[in-house]
Amino acid sequence: MHLARFPRRRYTPFWTPIEPLPNLSAALAGPEVWVKRDDMLGLASGGNKTRKLEFLVADALEQGADTLITVGAVQSNHCRLTLAAARREGLQCQLVLEERVPGSYREDGSGNNLLYRLMGAERIEVVQGGSDLNAAMQGLADELAAVGRKAYLIPGGGSNALGALGYAACAEELLAQAFDLGLRIDHLVVSSGSGGTHAGLLAGLRAAQADLPVTGVSVRAERGAQEARIQALADDTLALAGADVRVRPEDVVVDDAYVGPGYSLPSDEMVEAVQMFARLEGVLLDPVYTGKTAAGLIGLVRAGRFDPSERVLLLHTGGSPALYAYQDVVLKELAG
Ligand SMILES: *Cc1c(COP(=O)(O)O)cnc(C)c1O
Repeated sequence: MHLARFPRRRYTPFWTPIEPLPNLSAALAGPEVWVKRDDMLGLASGGNKTRKLEFLVADALEQGADTLITVGAVQSNHCRLTLAAARREGLQCQLVLEERVPGSYREDGSGNNLLYRLMGAERIEVVQGGSDLNAAMQGLADELAAVGRKAYLIPGGGSNALGALGYAACAEELLAQAFDLGLRIDHLVVSSGSGGTHAGLLAGLRAAQADLPVTGVSVRAERGAQEARIQALADDTLALAGADVRVRPEDVVVDDAYVGPGYSLPSDEMVEAVQMFARLEGVLLDPVYTGKTAAGLIGLVRAGRFDPSERVLLLHTGGSPALYAYQDVVLKELAG
């Protein structure tokens, strides 16, 4: 892939670290568990959307936009980071927030919600779960156009092919870094939500002909639907990058056993994972994405899915600001 052909803004002036988790690995008595710290990416509090926004915001600037409009859940890391990128670039930012859990939006909410207000979103429009989000964004864009302004629309999670290039770039970074460190990685575990992260990684690994198995842990959708979404987006990403390959269907692996009661709703497995990472390693996960993804990793280890001689890498996609909106949940005392 020749990614340097694409306009790109730089929001992280370094490769994110790859670190061992020796205490967690010992506690699980399974494979070596390592983590790639994409929670340390640039922009306000980091996380995976920063990589996607490098390409998306560069495109917005090329098109002469003055305002970024995007959409997310009420505690959206993606909305927080889109707003932070807008501030960095001197752009305005408007947000459409989808109340996926009825009544969950609180204007004075903490976590990401606090940061929307602190960084000064120009407008926040709250819509009911299941609404036509593209239409809601277009409505805001039309209002801006009527007064001579120009909006750039970013889909939920920044997960179109252009945004997913950020994770194709991450795959290249990860391979170069593992080579540099002399670190053989046997398996990658990553969150699978709106899909740009999982699909972009698969696209980048495929283009590099790197046979590194990836398990995407679903945080929302059931397996079949999510695998179809990932396959389509990975292929779109390869096509956009001009790579003459397709991701093989057998490489698209989604585990949907850790969604719990639903998107953003707590599960005991998530709470256990958040507590283990914090207490054994001082690494902060989040309740909506990485907590469930790490629960998936822990579940796979306990199920004997990996050989003790293997090395498993968790891609830490960020999200810790949401912890502050889930205080009681993450401090829950679990039985046993
Ligand atoms: C958005 C998000 C994800 C999921 O990434 P997708 O590219 O939407 O699949 C995972 N972790 C965190 C912290 C996120 O904010």
